[in-house]
Amino acid sequence: EEMEVWKEFEKSKVYMADMESGLHYLFRVELASHETLEGEELKTFKDFVTVVAKLFPGRQSVVKLLETLLEWLVSLPLERIPYDAILDLVNNKMRISGMFLSEQLQWVGCQGSRPELRGYPCSLWTLFHTLTVQAALRPDALANTGLEEDPLAVLQTMRRYIGTFFGCRECGQHFEAMAKESLQQVKSLDEAVLWLWRKHNQVNSRLAGALSEDPRFPKAQWPTPDLCPTCHEEQEGLHVWNEEKVLAFLKQHYSTGNISPKYTS
Ligand code: FAD
Repeated sequence: EEMEVWKEFEKSKVYMADMESGLHYLFRVELASHETLEGEELKTFKDFVTVVAKLFPGRQSVVKLLETLLEWLVSLPLERIPYDAILDLVNNKMRISGMFLSEQLQWVGCQGSRPELRGYPCSLWTLFHTLTVQAALRPDALANTGLEEDPLAVLQTMRRYIGTFFGCRECGQHFEAMAKESLQQVKSLDEAVLWLWRKHNQVNSRLAGALSEDPRFPKAQWPTPDLCPTCHEEQEGLHVWNEEKVLAFLKQHYSTGNISPKYTS
C-alpha cells in the first residue's frame, strides 16, 4: 500500500479536492456496479446530474463536464443508458475541449488516519451540504429543469441517490427512515439547509464511538464551539442551538468563498 503523506488543512474550510474526488468516485466506481440505467434509476441519476450541473460551485472544467453530461442525458430520448456510455463521457473520450474530472482520489478535509476511514462518505455529506446551501443562495439556479420551485429538490434528489446508488445500504435505509419521518415538514430552501444539518448531527451522535469512527476525527455535534461560538447557547443549564446563527454559519461555511482549491490537481 502506498504511503500517504498527511495533508495539512483547516477545519473551518471546505475543500474542492474532496468534492471532486467524491464525484470521481461516484461516477467511476459507485455507478460502475450498475450495468445499465433505466426506469427509476435513470430518473434518479438524471436528477442528480441536473442538481450538480446547476448548483455545484466547481471549477469550470468540471462544471462543463457536468453540463455536457446533462445536455446529453436530456437530449437522448433513451429509456435505458449503458453505464459504459456515461463512463466514456466522464472520461472525456468525446474530446470536448476543456472538460475534465480528475481520476485521482485526493482527500483533504475528508482524509482519514487509515485508508478505509472517512473519504467518500465524508465527501458526499460535504457535497450535499454545499448543494443545499447553493440552492438557498441562488434560488433561480434550477429554473427550467423541472426541479424549480420545489424547496425539497436537492434533498429529494439526495434521498433517492443515497437509496438507489450509495454503496452503504445500511446508510441508505437509515437516511430513508429519517426522510420519511420529517422531510415533508421542510417548506423553504433555508429549512432544507437546516434539515440536512440536523439529520447529519443525528447520524453523528448515533455513530459516536462506533468502529467506523476515525479516532483522529471523533464524531461530535457540529459546528463545534470553536467553529461557531454564537451557534451555542444555554437555557436553564441546558445546551440549545441558536438556529438562526447556525443557518448563517452554514451559508458561510458551504459558500463559494469558503471552498479552498488547495490540493486540486
Ligand atoms: P462526516 O460525518 O462524514 O462529516 C463530514 C464533514 O461534514 C465533517 O468533517 C464536518 O466538517 C461536516 N459536518 C459534520 N457534521 C455536520 C452537520 N451536522 N452539518 C453540516 N456539516 C457537518 N455510517 C454508518 O456507519 N452508518 C450509517 O447509518 C451511516 N449513514 C450515512 C448516511 C449518509 C447520507 C451518508 C452520506 C453517510 C452515512 N454514514 C453512515 C457515514 C458517516 O456518516 C460518515 O460519513 C463517516 O463515518 C465518515 O465520518 P467523518 O468523520 O468523515 O465525518
